[in-house]
Amino acid sequence: MEKVSIKGIDFLRFSKLSVYQPLFHVFTTRLLPFKLRNEKDRKHLASLLDVPQILFPDQTHGDDYFLLPAKPTPGVSPPKADILLTQNSSWGAGILVADCVPILFFDPQKRCFALAHVGWRGALLHTHKKAVRLLWKHFKTSPEQLFVGLGPSIKSCCFEVGQDIAERFLERDSQSVILRNDRFFVDLTGFIERELCAMGVSRHNIEIAPWCTSCEQDLFYSFRREKERADRMALIAWLRN
Ligand SMILES: [Zn+2]
Repeated sequence: MEKVSIKGIDFLRFSKLSVYQPLFHVFTTRLLPFKLRNEKDRKHLASLLDVPQILFPDQTHGDDYFLLPAKPTPGVSPPKADILLTQNSSWGAGILVADCVPILFFDPQKRCFALAHVGWRGALLHTHKKAVRLLWKHFKTSPEQLFVGLGPSIKSCCFEVGQDIAERFLERDSQSVILRNDRFFVDLTGFIERELCAMGVSRHNIEIAPWCTSCEQDLFYSFRREKERADRMALIAWLRN
């Protein structure tokens, strides 16, 4: 990822995706001078970024999805979803995270994208794989065409889990759990990357942010580190005309 400054505020964006002009995307950090706690804050972010409107779903750590319709309907409560996908430019999409993996899938040929919010529950549900399948179903995107960005998230240095969760990851991928001093640590981004590659996504087309949100206190909020007090970062994507 690389730094990008908008109206004097620093954001991050995926280097591999920055060359695609039709796609606007950013990831917010702690350097955003306001929080993203409510609708008003999120509208503030949309206007700062000059995105017409940003849909933030009601995230549930599941694998439900929402296909953004051509025109936003005002006043409707946000859909329960952890995957958003769209091919139209009348509004942007956003997901909120603090340790979970924010993922952006983009197909430059079909001009469509998906956002996914994937924590350990979503990873075990293979929410990231479902996003790829949905892009195929709705827009005929093949995995080989996809660029995928995995934003800042908690890494295996800090992501300790109980034995029950560790075993569920091990059933799916023997490399996804690291044992240190009899404690279990999950490598979420490695797990997601390997599963996406097994579906046909090119490793070369996957960009993984190097930071651990729990370690990098100056840049990121972390639920693991700050518990209920943790604010959220947002991954925003929008197809410009
Ligand atoms: Zn860490």
